[in-house]
Amino acid sequence: MRSYYIRTFGCQMNKHDSERVAGVLEERGLVPSPAIDDADVIIFNTCCVRETADERLYGQVSSLKALKTGGRPDVIIAVGGCVGQRDGELVFAHAPHVDIVFGTHNIHELPALLDAAESGRRTASVLPSGDRFASDLPSHREDAWHAWVSITVGCDNHCAYCIVPSVRGAERSRAFEDITAEVGRLVADGVVEVTLLGQNVNSYGRDRYGQPRFAELLQAVGSSGVARVRFATSHPKDLSPRTIAAMRDIPAVMPYLHLPFQAGSNRTLAAMNRGYTREQYLSLAASIRDAIPDIALSTDIIVGFPGETEDDFAQTIDLVERVGFEHAFTFIYSPREGTPAASMSDSVPREVVQDRFDRLASLVQTLSYDANRRQIGLVQDVLVEGPSRRDPTVLATRTPHHRLVHVPVPDGASADALAGRILVARITGAHPWFLSGEFVASTV
Ligand code: SF4
Repeated sequence: MRSYYIRTFGCQMNKHDSERVAGVLEERGLVPSPAIDDADVIIFNTCCVRETADERLYGQVSSLKALKTGGRPDVIIAVGGCVGQRDGELVFAHAPHVDIVFGTHNIHELPALLDAAESGRRTASVLPSGDRFASDLPSHREDAWHAWVSITVGCDNHCAYCIVPSVRGAERSRAFEDITAEVGRLVADGVVEVTLLGQNVNSYGRDRYGQPRFAELLQAVGSSGVARVRFATSHPKDLSPRTIAAMRDIPAVMPYLHLPFQAGSNRTLAAMNRGYTREQYLSLAASIRDAIPDIALSTDIIVGFPGETEDDFAQTIDLVERVGFEHAFTFIYSPREGTPAASMSDSVPREVVQDRFDRLASLVQTLSYDANRRQIGLVQDVLVEGPSRRDPTVLATRTPHHRLVHVPVPDGASADALAGRILVARITGAHPWFLSGEFVASTV
């Protein structure tokens, strides 16, 4: 039986798309291969948001050249996703042993592209836009208990540093009925947690006049019978009071919100074209904490955007301290070709950026550790994700606030069999990035 292997780079949207690629390949009769070197079809589902992901992709694709020249000339190598969309046929120039290039809008064309590759034709097919949602394709979910559900694709914002609008296209909302029907099927299939996905979920429905918006979608998904609803990503300028109220009022919507602010000074926010000020962000964060006092807030922050001064950076630090994020993802700015920021000339010296990044990372770690220490002694519902990647004697579980809790596998229990169960755990220890816990015995 022919087999496939998918390597996924980048964000949750790419993980979602990879599950659909797997579904399409399995419908064609292929089976998953545990090792890349043994697979007959190798797919790279790519990301070009950060320079490192781009470099890693081409490094890994190049290393497969030996596979094709060293006795397995029939192996088919495909590059899809954001790099496929951006580079098209140029991928062949970087990596001549690649057989297929596809973009973000044409996963459904994979069977035809495989037919062509099997008959020896190398093909790049990239559609400028598409009206099919990958969510409507068959899927092979990585976890039986969790599903990504795409609700929008593309983005109408034009943040100066971001390549996404040019590789994912304009924003389009998926039909409300299609989303709720998919969630219904997932619940019937045993899924206990869904993550609604979009570049900017808060603007869901804006392009469908008179149709339900994101708050109504949360209401519908939250009453579908699924135990946990999460979503990503939120844009601060579009997060409405109705959505905050929905988060507060719908028990299945988890008390965790990822709300990227990116930079703390109005000057940098304007240069980034983010569409809000620091004052507006602070006021929004305060209103969220007023409505949902125990919510966990996380964010994304970019350090070293062109022209960032020490004063701008001090305002980033100040904003982090004022909001008191439970977690933050920090990034060093890297220019992406084709974005407005790539032509901004006033770059910040590397050593200055590194120093700022280190100071911010240290603050973020302190806040996260403090928040984790406040959890010790609490009893929480935790969703078992499966065995920890580093230690199979330990289970990786998540609290409603998306905190990772490591809990020893109970005596006589199977880690895999417990995946997808919601159990009760007592938090016994705190570390900067995770918690330790023990199950309340009666729940196991
Ligand atoms: S909101 Fe901004 S950062 Fe997010 S995908 Fe759209 S353009 Fe990129």
